[in-house]
Amino acid sequence: MLTVSQALEAILQEVVPSTPMQVPYDRAGGLILREAVTSDVDIPPFDKALMDGYALRASDAQGGLREFHVIEEILAGSTSQKTLKSGEASRIITGGPIPPGADAVVIVERTKLIEGAPPPRVQIDESRVEAEQNLIRKGTVARQGGIVVPAGKTLRAQEIGALVEAGSAAPLVAPQPRVAILATGDELVPPGSPLGPGQIRNSNEPMLAEQMRECGAHPQPLGIAPDQPEPLVELIRQGLQQDLLLLSGGVSAGKRDLVPAQLAAAGVRQIFHKIQMRPGKPLWFGVYHREAGGRCLVFGLPGNPVSSMVCADLFVRPALRKLQGIEPAVVSPLTARIAHPFRMQGDRPTYHPARLFAVGSELRVEIVDWVGSSDLRSTVSANGTVYLPPGEKSYSLGDEIPFHPWNQSGV
Ligand code: AMP
Ligand code: MG
Repeated sequence: MLTVSQALEAILQEVVPSTPMQVPYDRAGGLILREAVTSDVDIPPFDKALMDGYALRASDAQGGLREFHVIEEILAGSTSQKTLKSGEASRIITGGPIPPGADAVVIVERTKLIEGAPPPRVQIDESRVEAEQNLIRKGTVARQGGIVVPAGKTLRAQEIGALVEAGSAAPLVAPQPRVAILATGDELVPPGSPLGPGQIRNSNEPMLAEQMRECGAHPQPLGIAPDQPEPLVELIRQGLQQDLLLLSGGVSAGKRDLVPAQLAAAGVRQIFHKIQMRPGKPLWFGVYHREAGGRCLVFGLPGNPVSSMVCADLFVRPALRKLQGIEPAVVSPLTARIAHPFRMQGDRPTYHPARLFAVGSELRVEIVDWVGSSDLRSTVSANGTVYLPPGEKSYSLGDEIPFHPWNQSGV
């Protein structure tokens, strides 16, 4: 049986990063940038006023001058290039280009326009005028040719704004991975259905679909496959058309666990089955090469909800990250301190639901009550798992422990 890190290595070996494509900026949100965006201009592209007021020479004011001739009014978008001489000022609006010769802006609230015969004059009421005040120089934010958004970034609102500012209108991104989801089991009924004797709701499908969305993928649920070879293999064939296929249930050693055999019947090559971990021991992984080209990565996730969820986070998420060009593919655990004494005995390495929280600058972790891999309720109060090695171990308050944050934990 593979260890968790051997299994991860075997999975990542099969992942080929997807071919990037150009997407218009208004459809790029949530996608992963595959090529750094560099600016085609200096940002800002010209020396720019940051406040409404008067552009002038700081040295005039520092020399004691308090009254200036107003030579023009510069609006945002203006193209005036009148050079400002000593004793002169230009009325300027926020965003307006600083005229040549000026090196400071005095805010309008500190000025008084003097009525009377033209040319207009302005008095300033500011004791210290510093050179460069209330303006930003061309290229201060970014230089032409400089990287504005690095490759591998998820495009959020601010990245979209920044790349458009830099002149890009169609960034090169990873296409959104498509993930088929197939729940298996005769006991399953669709979400929202009343339960007959022996039935349970198909909670894994919506849970996995949401996990896939959180990884930037597009889930494609295929419904419920009964525990019968023909309909199961038929649905597997449909799922193999996508980038990934996640099955839930039917991968343990029970009589009704038909998934490995039907995956083989559909032509999927097994890479491994079963790993040394709890929850998630029955995990199955394989690859299918389509005749028309392209491959589908197939994960047979255990049916128990916490096993399914933890395996999707620990194994499917890195595969999706590599597919989309996010580095590193595997998110490293954090180190946190146990918030209460805890004793654990187990025969396998265990990923136990836990809650990470901060007290001041210190990360602490609370091990939540958990009765096992069918106890999804415990995960509601958790935001990741702690890693517990096999054997018997006692933890005291303040002991350090590795914590694996779940994708949606925000940590
Ligand atoms: P299996 O691996 O098929 O033996 O399933 C293990 C356990 O997980 C059983 O108790 C199943 O009823 C449960 N289970 C399987 N599939 C799902 C599902 N889609 N949603 C919720 N529970 C499931
Ligand atoms: Mg089953």
